[in-house]
Amino acid sequence: MSATSPLLALNQPVGGEFGITAELPTLELIHSFREGKFPLRYGYYRHVDHPKLKVLQEALAEQCGVPHARLFCSAHAALYELLRLLAHERKGRRLIVLHSGELTPEWHERLALVQAECVFLRLAVEPLPEASEWSRHDLLLLLHKGSDPETLPLQEAGRGTLLVCSDALPPSLENHPHIKYWTAPISDAQGAEIGGVVLGKVDRVMGELHELRKQRGAIFSTRLTTQANPQNLKSVSSISAALTASVAHREIRRIFTEMDNAEDALLYPSGMAAITMILDALRTVERPKIIMIGTLYTDTYGLLRGSVLEGTTLDWEWVSVGDLGRLEHAIDDRTALVFTETITNPLGDVSDLWAVSELTRRHRIPLVVDNTLATPFNCQPLACGADLVVYSTAKHFSGSNAHRGGMVLFREGALADTLRCQHRLLNMELCEDEASSLRGCLTDFPERMAQFNTNGLRVAEFLCQHPAVKEVHFPGLPNHPSHAVSQRLLRGTGSVIGWTLHHDHPESFQAVYDGLWGPILKAPTLGSNTTLMCPYALVAHYHATDEELLDLGFPRTLLRIAVGCESNLNEVLAGLQTALARAFPQPGQG
Ligand code: PLP
Repeated sequence: MSATSPLLALNQPVGGEFGITAELPTLELIHSFREGKFPLRYGYYRHVDHPKLKVLQEALAEQCGVPHARLFCSAHAALYELLRLLAHERKGRRLIVLHSGELTPEWHERLALVQAECVFLRLAVEPLPEASEWSRHDLLLLLHKGSDPETLPLQEAGRGTLLVCSDALPPSLENHPHIKYWTAPISDAQGAEIGGVVLGKVDRVMGELHELRKQRGAIFSTRLTTQANPQNLKSVSSISAALTASVAHREIRRIFTEMDNAEDALLYPSGMAAITMILDALRTVERPKIIMIGTLYTDTYGLLRGSVLEGTTLDWEWVSVGDLGRLEHAIDDRTALVFTETITNPLGDVSDLWAVSELTRRHRIPLVVDNTLATPFNCQPLACGADLVVYSTAKHFSGSNAHRGGMVLFREGALADTLRCQHRLLNMELCEDEASSLRGCLTDFPERMAQFNTNGLRVAEFLCQHPAVKEVHFPGLPNHPSHAVSQRLLRGTGSVIGWTLHHDHPESFQAVYDGLWGPILKAPTLGSNTTLMCPYALVAHYHATDEELLDLGFPRTLLRIAVGCESNLNEVLAGLQTALARAFPQPGQG
């Protein structure tokens, strides 16, 4: 793999030093990246580790004498993600928890979230079982205080896999071959926990953990990399018990609960972390089934279907938007939740939330609505009967491409209590710096959102009338199948548009994409104040087969424009016009 391709010079961050996305100016760059020819330097925040994050992880790994270090939003989240991966990759795997002092009720609750069979052993009180009593598939979790592996009460793990959860980083694990993983908090200069790390020696597992973090979203914010000094990390000494409850957090929760007709909200390190936590809280052995309505955002779709990495395939059913009969038929007593997006990404389908929630309420199944594309400016799903509303706050609320975060909103009740408890036990709070950055952007959100709506419709109408354009997926257009529902449900239809070209054979598609697009940036993500374009199917579903794409409902050449809230749209339209002029086949092309 070459990390020095000249193509990478074109790959620049968007959103500044802590930008959440990056320019992908040519199809060749995208193909090369997706085929694993080289890693991108910059990219969408959950998918491509920022160079500063990479440096910090490498420094931690080197300092602690392990091949891999993966950072997470908190030490408890780091342990949870590792345990979930290890416990679920093999059915019936036991988790043997070895602890020295009294184990607090909090630890019992925290470990119960992993949903694995746990055996608790208090060291020094109960005799340590012979190593031969453990199966080689057992996981031995040693809850430890301090950094010195020499003081561990267990100097060999017999046949199980030994993981140490400590409140400090070890000096080096090189001479301790029996320790396979070590989790610990990372602190800032004041000693406050700002994240957590998994140090690991097993390449395959650490690779899978990396992939899972992309999808499950318990990320460490790039903003914090400048505060965590690898040279000082050995001084970390405590896992913070209390959640951050800064003024910015309280303000954000107040603003959102007002906008969304909710009673309370929880903030998360990413939109996917919010969705993952809902899924983990609601999906149980008794209720393993998920029902999805409409083509959902790619990572949500993958998560709800069950990751192949987990070795378990979830029970799920897909129902198209508007098919209430099929939905009613799909709901059974094994159903954990029904999930939909108010406006689906990227096809713009809109469910009749009133009708769907009437059905889910009748069957007492929670309805979870991702309102990211609509935002509370256009729709308040809780008022339409939904039970939980989820957002990626990295989109329209921020607009700056410089904030990452997620949120769940709800009314009080058992579900709210469950999510609050899980959020506290895993310390899934959005970090202070990201909260401040979001708070700063919310001031003019209503004005910006009104402009997003206006601009979205204008660009959709422009595309619709252009002879080079074949299909335009946007619910604001009268010919869209969800137009009537959107008129009843939504105040505006946002600004995310999926579209295709008439002449989309590879050369023509490449010529259109690779050329200049005026002020339009070629970068993934949406809800940016400045207009962004991306070849959506290639970016989000690169490895999908033709058949899978057919099921999703779009071709490999689907483009997505996420129109910004520019007050003057003329240059954007001129950029589109220039790009589309290349969309007509040249003589000699097929
Ligand atoms: N929901 C929708 C509709 C999205 O488009 C995205 C990301 O693009 C997400 C959820 C995930 O949010 P995040 O990337 O902040 O984890």
